This record gives sequence, C-alpha cells and structure tokens, in this order.
Amino acid sequence: MKTPIGGEFDAPHDDRHDLGPMQHIDVPMKRFRESEEVDYLIVGVGSAGGVLLQRLARAGFNVVGLEAGPFWNTERDWVSDEAGSQKLYWEDPRITGGSDPLALGANNCGKGVGGGSVHWAAFAPRLHPSDFEIYTHDGVGVDWPISYEQILPYYEQLELEMPVAGPAYYPWGHPHGYAYGPHPTGGVGNALVKGCSAMGIPVSIGGPVAILSGSRGDRPHCIYRGFCIQGCKVGAKASTLVTHVPDALRKGAEIRPESMAARIELGKDGRVTGVHYFDKNRQLHFQRAKAVIVSGYAIETPRLLLNSACPGHENGLANSSGVVGRYLMAQAGNVVLGRFDQLVRMYKAPPAHVLTEEFYETNPKNDFARGFAIQTVAPLPIAFGKQMVAAKKAWGWGLRREMMDYNHWATFGVLGEILPWADNRVTLADQKDVFGLPIAHVSFNLHDNDKELIKTGKEKTMEVMRAAGATEVVQEARYAHLVGACRMGDDPRTSVVDKFGRTHDVPNLFVMDGSVMPTQGSANPGLTIQALAARTADYLISQRDAIFTSNQRDMTEPPLHRELAPPDTWGHGVPRIA
Ligand SMILES: Cc1cc2nc3c(=O)[nH]c(=O)nc-3n(C[C@H](O)[C@H](O)[C@H](O)COP(=O)(O)OP(=O)(O)OC[C@H]3O[C@@H](n4cnc5c(N)ncnc54)[C@H](O)[C@@H]3O)c2cc1C
Ligand code: SF4
Repeated sequence: MKTPIGGEFDAPHDDRHDLGPMQHIDVPMKRFRESEEVDYLIVGVGSAGGVLLQRLARAGFNVVGLEAGPFWNTERDWVSDEAGSQKLYWEDPRITGGSDPLALGANNCGKGVGGGSVHWAAFAPRLHPSDFEIYTHDGVGVDWPISYEQILPYYEQLELEMPVAGPAYYPWGHPHGYAYGPHPTGGVGNALVKGCSAMGIPVSIGGPVAILSGSRGDRPHCIYRGFCIQGCKVGAKASTLVTHVPDALRKGAEIRPESMAARIELGKDGRVTGVHYFDKNRQLHFQRAKAVIVSGYAIETPRLLLNSACPGHENGLANSSGVVGRYLMAQAGNVVLGRFDQLVRMYKAPPAHVLTEEFYETNPKNDFARGFAIQTVAPLPIAFGKQMVAAKKAWGWGLRREMMDYNHWATFGVLGEILPWADNRVTLADQKDVFGLPIAHVSFNLHDNDKELIKTGKEKTMEVMRAAGATEVVQEARYAHLVGACRMGDDPRTSVVDKFGRTHDVPNLFVMDGSVMPTQGSANPGLTIQALAARTADYLISQRDAIFTSNQRDMTEPPLHRELAPPDTWGHGVPRIA
C-alpha cells in the first residue's frame, strides 16, 4: 500500500498487536486448554484486571483473562475521531432508574482489553488519608478496612509504572511529588489557572495525569492532540493495554477476548471451580480454575455474582450479606461551560491537566460532609454539542450557532463525593441480553448531603469560571465514574469482600476492581483501583498455593514486590515529602 507521499505503508500485521506507532506485542500468546485447571482466572482485563494479570503471570502463575470486548490492535482498530471511538464503551443494554438516574452506556464503562483505562482521561490523583475513615471523622459513609499507609506503597509504585506526570510538590491530602514533570497547559488549563489565581485558590498545573511528558521505552511522549478519551493512538496515555498487558503476555498469560463470562461455578465443597463463558459465536465454554478473580467493574461485577446464584447462594454468589450490588457510587460530575471573547481551543492538549483539591475535605462551615475537586474537562465537539443541548436547551439553528462557537468555550468539571447509600444498587432486570443473561438494573438516588455538596460545588466552579474572564457561564448536571457495589470491609454482614478482595463467603473467589471501594472521595478512581489490584496481587503471591488448598484466611499484610513491576519501570527518585 502506498502512502500519499509515495512511501511504503507498513500495514498492521495479523500476527502481532500494534499498540501504537512504536509499541508491539510480537510474542505468540500462550494458550491453555479449558480442561486444564489454571491457577487464576480473571474476569475482565481492564484497569484492575490488567494489573492482576501482569503481576500473577510474572510471579509464575498460570493465568487466563476472560475479556468481553476485543483485544485492540490500536493501529488497525482505533481512530482519532470522536464518533469513531464509541466502540470503546460498554454499550450493551442496561436499565437505569431511581429518582436521579445515572446515564449508562456510552461514556460510562469500558469494553475491550484495557477496559476503562483505554478511554479514561487519565487524571491520576490519590485519595486523601481522610478518605479511609470518613465515618470516624465525619459520621457519614463507612471507614475502609485499610488505611492510607497500607495503600501508599502501591500509589508510589503505580505512579511509576503508568507513569504519572505532575508537579514536584502536590500539596493536598498526603503531600507528595511526581517523577515525571508536569505537562504544559492548553487553553482550558490556562482558564482554570487564571480563575483559581484570581480567587486565591491553589491549583495544580500539568497533572497529576498518567500521560507521558517524556518518552519512555517504546512509548512516545504526548503530542497534545487531545484524543485521550478516544484511546490515544500515540500510546502516550497510560492504559493497562499499553502498560501491563504486553508484559503479562510475554510472561505467559493468556487473554481470551470477546469472551463473556456468564456464570461462576461453585463446587460441592463450597469453592469455585471455574467460569462458564460465551465466545464471540455465542458458544458456551467452561474454563477450570483453582481460583477466580472478578474484575468486571461496578456494574458487571455484581451482575455476574447475582447471575451466579446457585443452591446455598440463592441471592447471588458471595451474597450472604445482601450487599452485592448495594452502595453503588458515582461522583457528581457537573460540567461548567464558560464562553470567552478570545479563542480557547480546548481540544488542544489532554483534557486532564489542571485541577484543584482545595475544597476536597469536610469544611465545618458547610452544611454537608466531604467535598469536591475542580478539574479541566475539554470535551470534543459532539460531547460539547450534547452539553449545549442540556445546559442551554440549544436546538436547531441555535445549537448550530453554539457549535460554530466551540473554539471560544472552556469547560471545568466538578468532581464531588457522593456518599455510599444502600438504596443505590445494581439488581437483575427481567430483560435479557444477546446471550440470554439477565441485564443489570441500576437504581440511583441523591440524598440530602449529596444535593447540598453538588449545589456548592457547582456554584463555586461557576464562580471560578467567571473569575477566569468568561462572559457567559452555564452548566450541565451529570455524574462521573462508577464505583462500589461489592464493597470491602472487615464485617461479613456488611461487606462482600475482605481487605484483600477475597469474598467472605467463598474462599477461592475474589473481587478486585472499582466495585470494592467502600467510599470514593473526590479523586478520580483509576489510580486507586490499580493500586488496590497490585496490593491484592502481592497478597496472592505471598500466599502461594494456600489460596488453592486452604479455607483459612491469613490477613497478614504482604510485602511490596517491586521487582514484579513491568520492566523499565523507572525506579529512582520519586520525591517523597514527609
Ligand atoms: C470518559 C471517562 C473518563 C474517565 N476518566 C478518568 C480519569 O481521568 N481518571 C480516573 O481515575 N478514572 C477515569 N475514569 C474512570 C475509570 O476509567 C474507571 O474507574 C476504571 O477504568 C475502572 O476500572 P475497573 O478495573 O474497575 O473496570 P474496567 O477498567 O472497566 O474493566 C472491566 C473490564 O471487564 C470486562 N468485563 C465486564 N464484565 C465482563 C464479563 N462478564 N466477562 C468478561 N469481561 C467482562 C469489561 O469489558 C472491561 O474491559 C473515566 C471513565 C470514563 C467513562
Ligand atoms: S493529547 Fe497526548 S495523551 Fe492525549 S491523545 Fe494526544 S498524544 Fe495521547
């Protein structure tokens, strides 16, 4: 094939995965037989599943990942185009309800190897130490079964593995710095910096964001073309597809794409024996495994457990507490749009690059607990058009005029902590999907604390937009990020899994993904999800065969296996500020 300038075009190869212009997986993938009892079977190769797969393979376990979506060949499958990237999302039917229903489907959950880390914007802040004990401090929500200090080594480790770019001094929560320098700001970042500065609000410039600010290994640095949420064909944005999956395959893991887990099988001894799954031709298979880890995210994970009900677990597998599906959380994600007389061109630069966490913690002057962050958003034109419809009721010629004005607008997002409530939950609907599996019904209701927090977050963000110089400011109410619905805890009566993700009811069944988070803070969840996955992997590795042979629970904290990180993970010089 000839390129327009007459050179030979190196078309994508079928026998290897191209993960960008420079990154390729060219080792043949190991294949396990279904009759073979693998050590770990992971359902979902997304943010958490990708990290687990890599760590367990590197530690020498036989590990298979079942992934409902495709194994992307990014050069062949991805486009730098907003409309052409919808296939990155989980768009299978779901039902949404409650008094404040969540928008589900597009722009919500990922599907395909890498999961949500493929389309995330890659903002990668940590939770604050206070997030782990909000019940103790504020009397709301619930405390985590682990402390900030227990996840800290994994934050530091994953920040190197992705890696995360950001300032040398990040002042909020537990102050720390980033090994990779911050990114330059685009028009939308400049607006947030200007608005915050005018109001005396400290602001973090150029990160923390899991986008390469300098080339590393076979991944090039960011070229500021703004298609991060469309996957990033360049490979500069971290996703487990480019950070962890290549190493997993080189170390002998198998990924079975387009394989939809349908039911987890429980043996007579009360231990799981494997997973039934459909292949792309809707043929049913069964993969045997010594242990199963479900990493399907906050809706599909509880759905799979509920769909795996069996004698002795009539309400769903591992659901003796009745908590499977409950305490689902989304973050308040109101988008505030401001029009500027001068050009902004918000598409130029990663959407995620400036934020403030100044309003993150509980403020006794507020009449609500917990807080919110303010971040750059920068939608591309289709998303912007939808926001104009919602925020200004623009339609017809009016909408067209707004869209022609796109280059003059900047958008900031509120990221607000909605508390965990038992009535926000995933259940099974009567309707079935193409495989004949009951689909998820998601019910969501805002409570008084959430409503007050959203009101304040929205007003403060609009104030910042005005302070930045916007002549018109409007907003769209929406939510961002889903977590919870299989929460971790010490008490089997009020949680689904223990502090390592092992279900309280079934000793060789684990859940590890965003669904285990008991609360969510006002930090984007991706870094925390990957850090939790790395910690669980260290636990499983330190337990060796005990997980497969014993029902005893050793709750000893595992050592950090830094040596099991993907090679070339830069291991020097993270500024650690006491
Ligand atoms: C537009 C957008 C922007 C975002 N930006 C950010 C951001 O800037 N920072 C941040 O921290 N977070 C961000 N997020 C959120 C982040 O992407 C998710 O929180 C995170 O990816 C969840 O990780 P997970 O491991 O729980 O699930 P996922 O990464 O979604 O992985 C789950 C995987 O399981 C697979 N799966 C599910 N069910 C089955 C089944 N039955 N059988 C087989 N496979 C199955 C899915 O296909 C998927 O690949 C964003 C999300 C969206 C939608
Ligand atoms: S802005 Fe940077 S991270 Fe985003 S798509 Fe472009 S190269 Fe990738």
